[in-house]
Amino acid sequence: MERTLTGRTALVTGSTSGIGLGIARMFAEAGAKVMLNGLGRPEDIAAARREVGAAMGGGEAPYSDHDLSKPEAVRAMVAAAEKALGQVDILVNNAGIQFTAPVEDFPDEKWDQILAINLSSNFHAIKAVLPGMKARGWGRIINISSAHGLTASPFKVAYIAAKHGVVGLTRTVALEVARTGVTCNAICPGFTRTPLAERQVVAAAQERGISEEEALTEVVLAKQPSKRWVEVEEVARMALYVCGPDTGSLNGAALSIDGGWTAA
Ligand code: NAD
Repeated sequence: MERTLTGRTALVTGSTSGIGLGIARMFAEAGAKVMLNGLGRPEDIAAARREVGAAMGGGEAPYSDHDLSKPEAVRAMVAAAEKALGQVDILVNNAGIQFTAPVEDFPDEKWDQILAINLSSNFHAIKAVLPGMKARGWGRIINISSAHGLTASPFKVAYIAAKHGVVGLTRTVALEVARTGVTCNAICPGFTRTPLAERQVVAAAQERGISEEEALTEVVLAKQPSKRWVEVEEVARMALYVCGPDTGSLNGAALSIDGGWTAA
């Protein structure tokens, strides 16, 4: 692994699992000092800290347990990262949750929670890191949106509204930082092999009374022309590229990595 992030610091939200953990690990292998954030079982968090710590050369990676559904907790997470890392050069807004139901049955509290975690937390974190990035004349902000930030599917109203919002937030911030050395881009993965997505396969199989294998190809990957999962490492490599050398003109993009889904 080329150590293109040597000397850089990174805060990756929702990095105790899935895509966030994959990005944190790859950034650490590329030489960055990385702070983790996320919820989950203590043993899984400890394992993630050891894994990313090992990639940083030993010990446990710094970690914040802040619940990003609350604006004050998002600000406290950024403050904790600045204390642990000295500064935040790279922010990856990745934490996210999913819930599915028809619009008329969609619980109000699930709508509020998904908007808070999947969209508003990105805004609050960007607002908190931006002054430091601008003052130093360098920063990379990556917001993990989704193919569902560019196109819709039924029963995911809050998720899709939030992920479209993330693309709009990204574009607006990109315009505002265009002459500062900071960039802001979104990554829009298709179905990616993570615990979040694998839970959807199990749910689809149960709902339709079919095998998980059938549910994967017929239901979950129905819209993904490649008919295979996007792998976490593929998304992580795209994030690493965005933070690497000679990427100053890459700004305001919604980068698709979806096996052709949104080309259709
Ligand atoms: P995951 O469930 O494996 O990981 C989600 C992470 O977010 C975990 O670390 C979890 O602890 C954290 N998190 C959830 N709620 C939180 C909260 N309130 N405060 C702090 N952390 C919280 O899911 P994933 O598939 O790796 O998803 C990561 C991101 O990628 C999400 O934003 C998701 O929408 C997006 N995404 C995923 C896919 C996919 O198919 N897996 C596709 C497109 C986009």
